[in-house]
Amino acid sequence: MSEPQKRGNVVVITGPSGVGKGTIVKQILAKFNDIVLSVSATTRKIRPGERNGVEYYFKSVEEFKNLIDEGQMLEWAIFADNYYGTFKDAVKEKINEGKDVILEIEVQGAMQVKDKLPESILIFIAPPSLEELKTRLVGRATETPEVVMKRLKIAEEELKTTNKFKYVVKNDNLELAIKEVENIILNEREN
Ligand code: 5GP
Repeated sequence: MSEPQKRGNVVVITGPSGVGKGTIVKQILAKFNDIVLSVSATTRKIRPGERNGVEYYFKSVEEFKNLIDEGQMLEWAIFADNYYGTFKDAVKEKINEGKDVILEIEVQGAMQVKDKLPESILIFIAPPSLEELKTRLVGRATETPEVVMKRLKIAEEELKTTNKFKYVVKNDNLELAIKEVENIILNEREN
């Protein structure tokens, strides 16, 4: 008889906007073929190059509120005036198949996952400094200056919550930060 399937882990990558979460997640997905990404829903406007169902499921506010009411969200939050959330069933399905699922989400959502699924692996990605984060967010040029300022203000608050997370990885060298995240996931799998 075959061994029962071991359930996968939920890996949460959190931290301020612009810190490099997305880049780290892409690299982790490229390195592990047994880790999949949870594609979130959001009400923010689609950016050039983004595809519905790939980076996000883009929803109207009404559609998003319905998803919440129907109990479809594992977690959700309002970030810089837009809703963002993780689909509960998609995550459940993947971990039941024995795959690890990565959630790339902001801090309020990460705290909800910590409450609901305390066995999750929570990793906070921190910038070398707020100044550096500002340079990165401005350089990324995906948002208007007003939105950049809003995201930086949120970042200041988010950086006060690092003590809530088991793992804090400082992203001042991308390669090292990726390696650190990789090691955390491998070590947690052994537990
Ligand atoms: P962006 O608009 O730059 O794509 O994302 C803004 C912030 O929302 C980022 O910090 C991103 O990690 C976070 N985010 C993306 N998806 C989710 C989600 O499903 N839930 C929560 N709570 N935050 C999310």
